[in-house]
Amino acid sequence: MAATTPEVPAGKLLIKNIGLLLSGALENPVLDADAILCVDGKIDTVAKLADIDSEGVDTTIDAQGTTVCPGLIDSHVHPVIGDWTPRQSQINWIDSYMNGGVTTMISAGEVHLPGRPKDVVGLKAMAVTAQRAFSSFRPGGVKIHAGAPVLEQGMVEEDFKDLADAGVKLLGEVGLGGVKQGDEAKKMVAWARKYGIQSTIHTGGPSIPGSGLIDADVVLEADADVIGHINGGHTALPLDQIRCLCESCSRSVEIVHNGNELAALFAMRTSMELGQPERIILGTDSPAGSGAQPLGILRMIALLSSIGEIDAETVFCFATGNTARQRELDCGLIEPGRVADFVIMDRAQHTAGKNILDSVRLGDLPGISMVVIDGQVRCTRSRNTPPAERMASVVEA
Ligand SMILES: [Zn+2]
Repeated sequence: MAATTPEVPAGKLLIKNIGLLLSGALENPVLDADAILCVDGKIDTVAKLADIDSEGVDTTIDAQGTTVCPGLIDSHVHPVIGDWTPRQSQINWIDSYMNGGVTTMISAGEVHLPGRPKDVVGLKAMAVTAQRAFSSFRPGGVKIHAGAPVLEQGMVEEDFKDLADAGVKLLGEVGLGGVKQGDEAKKMVAWARKYGIQSTIHTGGPSIPGSGLIDADVVLEADADVIGHINGGHTALPLDQIRCLCESCSRSVEIVHNGNELAALFAMRTSMELGQPERIILGTDSPAGSGAQPLGILRMIALLSSIGEIDAETVFCFATGNTARQRELDCGLIEPGRVADFVIMDRAQHTAGKNILDSVRLGDLPGISMVVIDGQVRCTRSRNTPPAERMASVVEA
């Protein structure tokens, strides 16, 4: 297994000859720069190559005139342990997502563990175990924020304090466990927030036999930080309820691959109409009944840009800077001080698009030629995307 430690290497990395630099920031999605200097796994300088001091650079990547984007963030995954998912009995799925440009994942609950404990002591122990395990084991180098307990009845305020003290920072999807009523969920979400634990709520019909419906009234009453899969996972709420969620609160609008595509487009358009594009974040909600989707985030970008008729550079922000800001992560934006997580890509061979942005606008996926995490090259040509027309390369010293 491609086991890796999360150690960040010391040293300088230079990326030069960037043809298009996507920032991840909605307010300025394309940067006027062609080079990035990174020091010890963090972005140091974003500028024209002529203005960068390349003295003492250890590694140089020649982007060959192609596109650099912040590493993609999958806001909604269900990891269990290591790079194995019992949901579809697959191994190496996380490494495969890295080949689809994903450098950070957020767990919405390790709910697929066979025999998942539902008693309070057991669910807390499991959350701490997942948090520890994924902090020190990164398949493909991907940063997995995990250890997301699912709320069960009988939890008291002290449990949330214990979890926070033990390093747990997320709740699993509210509604997947025994807590499904709005008033009960509201109380626990507030305790979680008090101790710095971020929350996501399941939205829509049951995902699998045994889970239940969470409608707009429950979502609004619970007031979780993220309206998890607002487009259903898989079954969506009626569109008028989705509109109501967008209009009645200011929480993150999470749109996922394993949801209803019509509802996805509706939620995006409604957020845009409200003048709140910054709320839109993307996930896959995988592995799930629909399987694992290594290219799920790229497919969401292509779907929302093409059928949703939104510029591709804007939609890339939904999967990078928006998620980083809504979830308070140190990645997702090309700016000094952020972690050096990048996807280098070009338009796919034989796309009808004139350039990469045009190709995505036409519904095609880009081709990835390199993924960098913490300033370290994690893959060169992606084994999963269509081949890029031009390929980034590491310059031999
Ligand atoms: Zn769900």
